[in-house]
Amino acid sequence: MAAPSTRDRSISVLDAGSIHNISSGQVVVDLQTAVKELVENSLDAGATTIDVRFKDYGLDSFEVVDNGSGIPPQDYDYIALKHHTSKLASFTDLQSVTTFGFRGEALSSLCALADSVSVTTATAADAPVATVIDFERTGKVSKKAKAARQRGTTVTVSGLFKPLPVRRKELERNAKREYAKALSLLHAYALVPCAHDNKGVRLTVVHHTAQGSKSVQVRTDGTPSTRASVSAIWGPKALEHLVDLDLAFPVEPEAALLRRLGPAQDDERANEVKVKGLISKFAVGCGRNGTDRQFFFVNGRPCAPSKVQKAFNEVYRSFNATQSPFVIADFILPTDSCDINVSPDKRTILLHSENNLVQALKVCTRARVVSCAHRRVGCARGDVRALAIDVRRQPIPGSEQGRSGGDAAHAIRQGEGSAVPARRG
Ligand code: ADP
Ligand code: MG
Repeated sequence: MAAPSTRDRSISVLDAGSIHNISSGQVVVDLQTAVKELVENSLDAGATTIDVRFKDYGLDSFEVVDNGSGIPPQDYDYIALKHHTSKLASFTDLQSVTTFGFRGEALSSLCALADSVSVTTATAADAPVATVIDFERTGKVSKKAKAARQRGTTVTVSGLFKPLPVRRKELERNAKREYAKALSLLHAYALVPCAHDNKGVRLTVVHHTAQGSKSVQVRTDGTPSTRASVSAIWGPKALEHLVDLDLAFPVEPEAALLRRLGPAQDDERANEVKVKGLISKFAVGCGRNGTDRQFFFVNGRPCAPSKVQKAFNEVYRSFNATQSPFVIADFILPTDSCDINVSPDKRTILLHSENNLVQALKVCTRARVVSCAHRRVGCARGDVRALAIDVRRQPIPGSEQGRSGGDAAHAIRQGEGSAVPARRG
């Protein structure tokens, strides 16, 4: 029967099941976001080993196995219910949240969007006895059983999108492409979140074909370094043309934000932004022919900031016209100058004063490359500081300021006509 036209209907509230299905489809939009949510849960649980297993490009199932904290028995009934989370108590905590998850929606969405979801978990107190928990589509527990397991959690998702025939067909039609996207996102997690200075995580990704053969796609050894992860993913040769990216610069709030904030000293307003990572040397032949290896993060969260990506490519091409850089850039900024709760899949991050940030980034990067060229070290192999600068403190050789000894940011602004302000005081 055809749905009644809107004229025939009066307003009414949707039933809980429909709401659940509608919102779940926004949290888990494709295979990569589904897998990402499970890996983030493992990282949030303090895991030091994470194994991701795909069966038949994820069409059959995917599974994430960790050695994290495990889930305590009193939480079993709630973990897959919408908006139940152990990570955030109220909206005001959102600004200071340091975990990947905070919406309490991933497991509940997966239950609504897959044939089956099963969790096997043990805390240190319960191991080696674990509990296997199966869920209904609504997120309610349907069955509990005992199994042997060390501390940690395994989440298995089978038949992703089977309850949504259109999405399932799309997934089947593009299985290899969707799998490749998931793999690329896992690379991002291996490069920064699993390679933080103080804590390395061993990440292994394995693919099992429908015929049963197995191939290792990623294996990092838990060394807490982005260079080690690059080498583990693409081989040591991939490091050959990379230099460290280590920038720091102030970003002025944009006019609209300033109006909202009211009067204050400029110094209090400028946010310091740091950018850490790796980038191709700024020289002909040192880049890549495509933009396939460009990974961006905000405070360690993988994201896809298109303006920032464009800025890197633009600056890079002014030194190497025919290529794009291999770039891994983690933007470290105050948590109150970005909003991580923009989209349900958490892939979009709103950067306050993004235009000023992009301008300052371009100016800082370009100035640094030029200054390195002046010192003839810009492309020296092994020069790990090649793209390190703090524009607030360091004189830039060859610039106005380098000659006069004045303020670095001021000199860059004058030279480039940029939005980067002179710092006072
Ligand atoms: P969120 O991560 O936003 O809290 P999820 O739906 O992803 O929401 O997870 C719900 C809850 O289940 C988490 O808050 C956590 O308490 C628990 N959980 C899920 N996965 C794991 C895991 N791998 N290890 C430990 N606890 C987990
Ligand atoms: Mg989560």
